[in-house]
Amino acid sequence: MWRAYLAGGGLVVAAYLAVPDGVPRDVAYVAVGLSSVVAIVVGARRHRPRRAAAWYWMAAGQLSWVMGDALYSWYQDVANTSPFPSPADVLYLAAYPMIVVGLVILIRSRNRGREVAGLIDSGIVTVALGLLSWVVLAGPIARDDGQSLIARVIGIGYPAADIVVLAFLVRLLVGSGQRTVAFRMLTAATGLLLVADTAFAVINATSSYQGGVVDLAWLASYVLWGTAALHPSMTALSEPGGHPSPLTARRLVALTVAVLVAPCTLAVELVGGRPRDAWAVTVCSIALFVLVVARMQLAMGEVRASVHQRDIAQRNLVHQAGHDSLTQLANRAHAVEMIESALGRAQRAGSLVGLLFVDLDHFKAVNDTHGHAAGDEVLRETARRMQAGVRAGDTVGRLGGDEFVILVEAPDSAAALVALAERLVDAISAPVHTAERDLVVSASIGVAVVRDGGTDADALLYEADAAAYRAKAQGRGRAEIFDDDLRREHLARVELEAAIRIGLDEGQFVLHYQPIVEVLSRGTASYEALVRWNRPGHGLVMPDEFIPTAELSTLICDLGRWVLGAATRQLAEWNTAHAGDLTVAVNISGRHLASAEIVSDVAAALGAAHLPAERLVVEITETVLVDQPMAIGHLRALQELGVGISIDDFSTGYTSIGQLQNLSVDTLKIDRSLVASSAPGAGELVRLVVHAAHAFGLPVVGEGVEHEAQLGSLERAGCDFAQGFLFARPQPPSGLASAREGASEPVGPANHLT
Ligand code: C2E
Ligand code: MG
Ligand code: MG
Repeated sequence: MWRAYLAGGGLVVAAYLAVPDGVPRDVAYVAVGLSSVVAIVVGARRHRPRRAAAWYWMAAGQLSWVMGDALYSWYQDVANTSPFPSPADVLYLAAYPMIVVGLVILIRSRNRGREVAGLIDSGIVTVALGLLSWVVLAGPIARDDGQSLIARVIGIGYPAADIVVLAFLVRLLVGSGQRTVAFRMLTAATGLLLVADTAFAVINATSSYQGGVVDLAWLASYVLWGTAALHPSMTALSEPGGHPSPLTARRLVALTVAVLVAPCTLAVELVGGRPRDAWAVTVCSIALFVLVVARMQLAMGEVRASVHQRDIAQRNLVHQAGHDSLTQLANRAHAVEMIESALGRAQRAGSLVGLLFVDLDHFKAVNDTHGHAAGDEVLRETARRMQAGVRAGDTVGRLGGDEFVILVEAPDSAAALVALAERLVDAISAPVHTAERDLVVSASIGVAVVRDGGTDADALLYEADAAAYRAKAQGRGRAEIFDDDLRREHLARVELEAAIRIGLDEGQFVLHYQPIVEVLSRGTASYEALVRWNRPGHGLVMPDEFIPTAELSTLICDLGRWVLGAATRQLAEWNTAHAGDLTVAVNISGRHLASAEIVSDVAAALGAAHLPAERLVVEITETVLVDQPMAIGHLRALQELGVGISIDDFSTGYTSIGQLQNLSVDTLKIDRSLVASSAPGAGELVRLVVHAAHAFGLPVVGEGVEHEAQLGSLERAGCDFAQGFLFARPQPPSGLASAREGASEPVGPANHLT
């Protein structure tokens, strides 16, 4: 609709001067004006802006102009006179206040707050142009003794009204709010009106205006005004905007030019030898001066406020970077920094540094049972209690989750630290009042202490953590100190880890293989790879002596990667020698399974050995699925590769039988303890597990079969496969060569018992 109106209006304006002068041209003129009034009303009704009144006021103003036009045309075309002043002037002048009211409504709805800066800027421009207007237009009229007083007043009224409209137009332009298409059209229409008015007045001051280009400008203003109202973006014109723009360079130039108007005017008049407007210039100069000072003051305030805001933001950032948002305690990075600097100070002063490692007991259960809001409340309350329990100079930090540290600088003794830890254990275990209920959460606290700062933050943290671990192991809700026992344990661990690393580098690890036998045929279906360590000076070391230590770090992943490679290589070698569909089972520990590399490690091993994925089985213990939520996703990915998944050491301890159907596994291995158990009901339990596993489509392996009787009861229970010393002990691949020859043959237990 707005396009049609703009196109139609544009055509009339373009063709206007071709219309014969007199009645036809005047009719066209009035028609365009009326169309603008109609367009504004239609636009306001159609788009329903927040402040429709603004548009109705503008429409009323336009209507007043149109009626003035019509009346004046009547004088010219019918009565053949050009009276001044006439009733038409009353109609013309009455339009301005209405236009101003419309603009004011828009300005107020667009601006948030008072926007003093915009007010001052518009004041400066208005005073400057007002002065120009006085010098060029109003002054000569005021001084023209040849005209009646009323004629002079009305004559001055026009430029004065234009200056008032200009003041609000500038206000609209410098204020906040969106600059949509409708906004640009409306401000252009208003600007065009002011230009046309001024041009008309200037021409009239010297000769009498006979119609022409100025009419085109007025008409264009009408059309643009109507189009603005019809444009859909007109609704945004009365929507409040963001913050007004600051003092931009462009605006500064405009204000400078405005301020220079006064002195320049005086200069021009002085050069012309007729300084008639000295008073007007003086008054305006004073006004401009006051406005500029006010504007400077305001700009200074803006700068001060933004500097202040930046300071606050910076302080907040620094605080956020070093603090935990939930408890407002120092976060891990900040706490470590504090520990480092405390150690540095202790080194110079030769004093003690104490560190408490606080770990809440069974905190996960609080979150799981009572929800995260309750969990958060417990953490906040724990933080408060710890802060209340320490001295002013001590630092409480949150490492993450339910782990906290307390840095105690220069404690009197290790005993004092332990006493503090015990007080905190008591304080923390008092009930926490949450919105729903009272919760009791205990804490295990580890204490580490060092003299002369003779260690680093990581080591001190490790010691406190190890002590907390022992506090947990010894029953939770207590404090333990990192003592010589723990130190020895720690040293042993560090040494063992280093030796394992060297062993991996130097190829000291070997794999032994134990057959997994099909119960009915007694044929070998698979081999389980079991790692051993040819540790120099220690003989052949069994896995339970080094796996638990390797599992404490990512060392276990390196070991697992080596096992995967060696086992798949071995199977591939057997396959080339003797075609078969044997599989190899590899034990993978929870940490490795939960790590991101597991899938690529498995794929790489299969690829390097050119072995199809179906030939590999990964054994994981059932605890892994409970402790490592990440592991489940990785299991799925491995299964998608085609690798088989076996649950090792299943004894219904962690996983209920019912859960089996939800796990993506392919085989179930019943733990040796259950197979060997002579407890009443054990045989029944085995039968139950086998039955349930079969119900979910999982074949079952009985582990640790040592006697024929055990094999017999497994067979009666319907167990599919068996593994144990009865068939063979784990042995190096060389020892298995003979067994491999007869892989398809039944494996006689006697052959392999060593
Ligand atoms: P597992 O996976 O349950 O392996 C079976 C263990 O039972 C082996 O002990 C095996 O020698 C033993 N075994 C087999 N048949 C009998 C039997 O008839 N009677 C008795 N008493 N024991 C039997 P091993 O080789 O000492 O391995 C112990 C555990 O160490 C394994 O238990 C497995 O959890 C872990 N392990 C072994 N190799 C690796 C490995 O390469 N990576 C990882 N992550 N863990 C491994
Ligand atoms: Mg195993
Ligand atoms: Mg096992």
